Amino acid sequence: MSFTSLGLLKDITNIVDQLGYATPTPIQKAAIPSILANKDLMAGAQTGTGKTAAFALPLIHSILLKKEVDNLSHIRVLVLTPTRELAQQVHSSFVKYSKDLMVKSVVAYGGASINVQIDALKQGCDVLVATPGRLLELIMKNLIDLSALQTLVLDEADRMLDMGFIIDIQRILKNLPESRQTLFFSATFNDDIFALSKTLLNNPQLIEV
Ligand code: AMP
Repeated sequence: MSFTSLGLLKDITNIVDQLGYATPTPIQKAAIPSILANKDLMAGAQTGTGKTAAFALPLIHSILLKKEVDNLSHIRVLVLTPTRELAQQVHSSFVKYSKDLMVKSVVAYGGASINVQIDALKQGCDVLVATPGRLLELIMKNLIDLSALQTLVLDEADRMLDMGFIIDIQRILKNLPESRQTLFFSATFNDDIFALSKTLLNNPQLIEV
């Protein structure tokens, strides 16, 4: 199976080819068609399985299609991560997978200058990768417009709950459009994860690799 047969735009499969990815990994085979079909997803995947490309590639595809229609920069994809290191990694992946395409990723996390992040947002942002605390700060200060959000990704959801982010996540959710796609990635599943996923996901596809 190839990346092309998963339904991704040629501009994206060209980038994947340049990166030397010969075939999609199991999580990519399972997740990419569902994400392109706008389904919600609950995916069990460890780091190292190719999970970042599993959501980044189809979301870049969707952004490119929407931008063909309105040619505007809105925050269309929000990825929440438990740590600034993961936020930085996911942001770098979006930059890498959308090289030379009209997709702009911005990263926002605590412990770094909020003004630099605000300036970056003002220059146009299609994908925002953020940690919960800094995102809430931007929301509370009315510095961010999430009204055009299409997709929310919770990456390493189990670690987010372990680190006590549940209240922050619930506060963030109140500021997001209800009609959206939600993708849930977690290395492990327990009752808390299932409880959160039930409140967030709409008829999700379950994937475990
Ligand atoms: P992740 O699980 O997202 O942390 O990805 C782990 C590593 O796998 C990253 O360094 C990616 O560049 C690489 N990778 C992702 N998808 C593929 C693929 N289909 N073929 C080869 N390497 C890949």
